Amino acid sequence: MSKKRVYTFGNGKAEGKADMKNLLGGKGANLAEMNLIGVPVPPGFTITTEVCTEYNDLGRDKVVELLKPEVEKAIENIEKLTGTKFGDAANPLLVSVRSGARASMPGMMDTILNLGLNDDAVKGIAAKSGNEWFAWDSYRRFVQMFGDVVLGMKPESKEEIDPFEKIMEEVKHTRGVELDTDLTVEDLKDLVNKFKAAVKTQTGRDFPTCAWEQLWGAVMAVFDSWGNPRAVYYRRLNNIPDEWGTAVNVQAMVFGNMGNTSATGVAFTRDAATGEDLFNGEYLINAQGEDVVAGTRTPQEITKEGSLRWAKLQSVSEEERASKFPSLEETMPELYKELRVVEQKLEDHYKDMQDMEFTIQSGKLWILQTRNGKRTGAAMVKIAMDLLRESKIDEKTALLRLEPSKLDELLHPVFDSVAIRAANVLAKGLPASPGAATGQIVFFADEASKYETSLLVRIETSPEDLEGMNIARGILTARGGMTSHAAVVARGMGKCCVSGAGALKIDYKARTLTIEGKVFKEGDWLSLNGSTGEVYEGKVQTRKPDLSGDFGLILELAEKFTKMSVRTNADSPKDAQVAREFGAKGIGLCRTEHMFFEGERIKAMREMILASTTEGRKRALAKLLPYQREDFEGIFEAMAGYGVTVRLLDPPLHEFVPHQLSTQRELAEEMGVTIDVIKAKVDSLEEFNPMLGHRGCRLGNTYPEITEMQARAIIEAALNLKAKGVDARPEIMVPLTGTLKEFKLQADIIRATAEKVFAEKNDRIDYLLGTMIEIPRAALTADLIATEADFFSFGTNDLTQMTFGYSRDDAGTFLPIYIDKGILKHDPFQVLDQEGVGQLVKMGTEKGRSTKPNLKVGICGEHGGEPSSVEFCHTVGMDYVSCSPYRVPIARLAAAQAAVKGNK
Ligand code: ADP
Ligand code: MG
Ligand code: MG
Repeated sequence: MSKKRVYTFGNGKAEGKADMKNLLGGKGANLAEMNLIGVPVPPGFTITTEVCTEYNDLGRDKVVELLKPEVEKAIENIEKLTGTKFGDAANPLLVSVRSGARASMPGMMDTILNLGLNDDAVKGIAAKSGNEWFAWDSYRRFVQMFGDVVLGMKPESKEEIDPFEKIMEEVKHTRGVELDTDLTVEDLKDLVNKFKAAVKTQTGRDFPTCAWEQLWGAVMAVFDSWGNPRAVYYRRLNNIPDEWGTAVNVQAMVFGNMGNTSATGVAFTRDAATGEDLFNGEYLINAQGEDVVAGTRTPQEITKEGSLRWAKLQSVSEEERASKFPSLEETMPELYKELRVVEQKLEDHYKDMQDMEFTIQSGKLWILQTRNGKRTGAAMVKIAMDLLRESKIDEKTALLRLEPSKLDELLHPVFDSVAIRAANVLAKGLPASPGAATGQIVFFADEASKYETSLLVRIETSPEDLEGMNIARGILTARGGMTSHAAVVARGMGKCCVSGAGALKIDYKARTLTIEGKVFKEGDWLSLNGSTGEVYEGKVQTRKPDLSGDFGLILELAEKFTKMSVRTNADSPKDAQVAREFGAKGIGLCRTEHMFFEGERIKAMREMILASTTEGRKRALAKLLPYQREDFEGIFEAMAGYGVTVRLLDPPLHEFVPHQLSTQRELAEEMGVTIDVIKAKVDSLEEFNPMLGHRGCRLGNTYPEITEMQARAIIEAALNLKAKGVDARPEIMVPLTGTLKEFKLQADIIRATAEKVFAEKNDRIDYLLGTMIEIPRAALTADLIATEADFFSFGTNDLTQMTFGYSRDDAGTFLPIYIDKGILKHDPFQVLDQEGVGQLVKMGTEKGRSTKPNLKVGICGEHGGEPSSVEFCHTVGMDYVSCSPYRVPIARLAAAQAAVKGNK
């Protein structure tokens, strides 16, 4: 049997189901599933994602040939179910052609509605519905969408306007109307003629009248849209592989634009911003498709409660609200009840918050889409915990529902409560995506990087603005509701957003924003509160958020399942404290070089470097000893009861000497030597490739007195604390080991020094002695190195650098291009390269444990806080990961998820 490329659904039957997302895309799989559970969905069919790949390989003609028999049968099936005929003049079947990838990519690809219309069919529809306005409104929409998407008339640059929009504006202007719904039948006919004329002038061809020609054109355009730049960018941002492809859904149209008993809208089973269990959404009467999110008309709330809340925020009087913007609950109470039943059913079925699209055609409700709704980090946490409390999901499922990196949003600042009281509220919009943001305003998305912290201010945003929205700290729009493009995208990104602030007058040309007579120029500071919708003048101070409640419960739950512990990378007692509050159990990497820079210390450090004899160096090091000891005491105390891994001096010495003439002169004066002596020393320290140069344990092996001093400082600090009753647990780590001997010589010095200090103080403590594994040779000979080491810590920054042969500091010139071209999937300095670097990590761990079964193993590179890398560390069998303080909660969750997935 040949391969099945088309899956039909309709009237309570479906060939597909929810778990076939890979093949049918998210939208198609759920359309099938909804049919199976008795939700009213217009009939249709899905062309699989595999065909998209075939299309890219074989080209259009071959794919049409392959699809034809199945598509013709599927269309027949819709005809039977709807009692219409595709391509007929009197009783035509109209369809939508919709894209739908495996992972939802809202608004990223193109949809065409009302396909099947032409000059004859429009009359048939008018006669059949008895509604000429509706027929021509559908037709003008179709010609525009088909022209933009299939005939390629949508402009690519931001300066150009859509040719159809331009005609629309002109017609509205001459007719003196503002809303689409105010146009007459004659106006709509006029529009269609002008649209078709524009098609002819721009493409040199007549608008296609044959329904089949329209259909094939639209299907191929959807496949093409997988490769459009905004879809490509969205995939990059969300780590969606290019090779997945999109499915195409063809579905009988239902019409929300058939008059006052028709409507269209979107709804969420819970609040996507806060996670509260509040059904909500927006709708418009006599509207179609994207009207609700397009921002051309003000959408109305679905629930009365939501409507009242909206009116209050917008300062709309109750009289005006009830007459002009009533809720669906008020205008169509029966249908509202039906929608509530469906909404409950869908959430109970999918056991997660649903984001739905619906259309009401002459009093009948249809559901056009459902998916697990995008949400903020806060909503993600609350919804998972609520569903757990409602016993709808179990603990493991609750953990797996969370996206670790999204916890980050909860750790970000909110406005300082004192500063905010003094701040001046300029305007109020809708609280589209929570959090606080302050920044300098820009008016174009591609200029978002003009300032270090920018706010993107737009009349409304569109998918083209995605990249800039990602760069900006916050987004402010003048138009659009809670489900506008800006709002939905911002929530997905976890970015603060205020939408629909009607008081804003934006002049793109002059690059100004006017609010009640006050003019703000590009670069002026504003602040946004995405949780209340308030817009403030100037820069308002922010502060750390509160981390109790559900956030704490999530981390407790993570603790219950996790196998690895999470440590932090911290060089100061303050960072150690922050990380401890986030649940870090120890320090995986405490760098000591930062301790040499402040005040008097750098002087002693330079004196040490300039000294030409061992004696001279020892004298200078003796001055550094008390500083180091004091620093270690602070850090060990902050982490009392947990291990603290201290790395001995790592960077090359040239980082500590002055390179500018003026500072060299100052140093010469201080040291009482000539500037030539300084210069000569600085020159002698210069290296061509310092990353591979005189650093790490190479320093300790050439100047053993440095290792000696640092070991002494660590052990003395621990003993001093012990005397005070503090449980200090030092772990001394030698950096950049490549050979056993290299490590052994350092280990000998450290052990001897420790014994000396124990004898002096007449007391002992336990300490561990280990090394970083960050040179490929160390991983390859890990079995040998483990004979001398108590622990390994994979320094995956250097290990990545040396395995790839990429200098981390110079990689910026080519890495972005490599990622763009698909040579690399990710930046290997952010996401651990499991295929290559990962092999060394795995081998190093296994070899190390082959000679020392109880060898403690961890990771301390940037990757220790990146979820996919944390999962990898779990599979390799590490004891811990270590990451920067603010990533500790993310790593804890990722570690728990890895454990849960592992034994499922
Ligand atoms: P997106 O993936 O961008 O959301 P969709 O394919 O869901 O695109 O469709 C865009 C809009 O058109 C949505 O509002 C959807 O509800 C509407 N729509 C799609 N198909 C139909 C249909 N058969 N009848 C009525 N409206 C439809
Ligand atoms: Mg949709
Ligand atoms: Mg290193």
